[in-house]
Amino acid sequence: MAIQTAVETYKNLINGEWVPSASGETFESVNPARVSDIVGRFQASVEEDVVQAIEAAERAFRIWRYTAPSKRAEIMYKAADLLEAGLEQYAEELTREEGKTLASSRMEVKRSAQTLRYYASEGLNVTGDTLPSDDPTTFVYTRTEPLGVVTVITPWNFPISIPVRKIAPALVTGNTVVFKPASDTPLIALRLVQALHEAGLPAGVINFVTGSASRTGKPLVTHPAVKAVTFTGSTGAGENINRSVRLSTRVQLELGGKNPLIVMDDADMDEAAELTIKGGFELTGQACTGTSRVIVMDSVHDTFVAKLIEKTRTLTVGNGLHKGIEVGPLANASQLKNVLEYIEIGKNEGAELAFGGERLTEGELTDGYYVRPAVFTGVMPKMRIAQEEIFGPVISVIRVASFREAMEVANDVEFGLAAAICTSDPNRMQQFVHSIEAGMVKINRPTTGVAYNAPFGGVKMSSTATYRESGREALEFYTHTKTVYHG
Ligand code: NAP
Repeated sequence: MAIQTAVETYKNLINGEWVPSASGETFESVNPARVSDIVGRFQASVEEDVVQAIEAAERAFRIWRYTAPSKRAEIMYKAADLLEAGLEQYAEELTREEGKTLASSRMEVKRSAQTLRYYASEGLNVTGDTLPSDDPTTFVYTRTEPLGVVTVITPWNFPISIPVRKIAPALVTGNTVVFKPASDTPLIALRLVQALHEAGLPAGVINFVTGSASRTGKPLVTHPAVKAVTFTGSTGAGENINRSVRLSTRVQLELGGKNPLIVMDDADMDEAAELTIKGGFELTGQACTGTSRVIVMDSVHDTFVAKLIEKTRTLTVGNGLHKGIEVGPLANASQLKNVLEYIEIGKNEGAELAFGGERLTEGELTDGYYVRPAVFTGVMPKMRIAQEEIFGPVISVIRVASFREAMEVANDVEFGLAAAICTSDPNRMQQFVHSIEAGMVKINRPTTGVAYNAPFGGVKMSSTATYRESGREALEFYTHTKTVYHG
């Protein structure tokens, strides 16, 4: 057994200083692959810390909003370089803290550096308009201006790439930030903040406060100086936040999913099974865009299921730090409990657990939150396992008789984040694109995997945002338009 090295204690960043919490307390971030491995100790912050961070951000805004866009861009580029320079270390820390495989963590850190560069460049293209004026003596134009203090609240499943796609557009447009990461993954979040700080962000432009939502959440969401809240997480928490924010505070909520993949009878069955596995089991099913419902045409159902199970059987589950591991642990104890509960719910509802679903504890896995990827067949569209977000490696296969029925089933959930179809028929592809209720649509691609420069978001209960995250549109959430009449 590996020996635990000294556990480091990390601090909050407030007004450019690394400081302890007023509570004097810390909490531990643990490795879900081996819970005796403590990744770090972090400040168990309280409202007083958050208020200090918001006040620092408010002061810094007075200067940062007037800082030259090219200077802001320069800092983003430098932070991207710093992240890349530490890529191996950060990827390992991410895996140790969250559980995903090292390959996925490397990709995520790399993606975060790309996102910083993308917004460094996009920030230089934020413009206003000149407008035709009926009065030749008046010049009418618009300016695009920052909002002020933005709070950024993020989940553990993409613990650096989600924060960066909020923080980077907020900063390049001249806002200042208070960032509270998920309590399961504060270390990799801190690495992002360190990179921005070391790259030269002035004091107070980014503030970082760790700790539980119950002790920090209120001022993050309701303080009068907070002009925007950008949140990614569960639907329940999003609803709470939505109820609490002030009328004058903008809110962006990126929430859950129950993403379908339709398998048509003209699809390549091997490819369909591989895409299902990639979307459903990579990242241990803990992606908001993860495949959780596979809607399969009757005529190919048995062939598809046989291939899916055959391929699922070969997946290697284990510690994501080790070579050859394809599925890591669940991220925390409540994730494990939740997934195992849904396995029981599915069985009790009458679905057939055709493969997996059991907790894995043998050998090296004893001390971690491992579950064998599960495939349910005989799932009916209204069953809870077909309606509710499980957020784990559990796939429900639903049998349908026609494309029309497939579309009805696909749209018959409260979520609408990502959706995919496997087919070789161009007409079906287009019908699917037109009729599916989802923000991101894939043809012969897994439901997971998105481009850092493309709009990200959903419809229905998956996203309440007026503006999409990622891509150019993201900048609009962090700015408002001022109209000027110049005589
Ligand atoms: P979560 O429990 O909702 O937590 C997300 C973040 O919000 C954490 O930092 C959490 O703090 C904080 N938080 C919770 N309640 C809050 C409140 N009332 N006020 C202020 N902050 C609050 O979600 P999670 O378990 O970390 O992440 C999984 C969920 O995220 C899934 O539902 C998944 O679908 C969703 N997700 C959505 C997207 C998307 O873009 N649509 C992407 C990824 C994940 P603590 O950690 O301290 O509790």
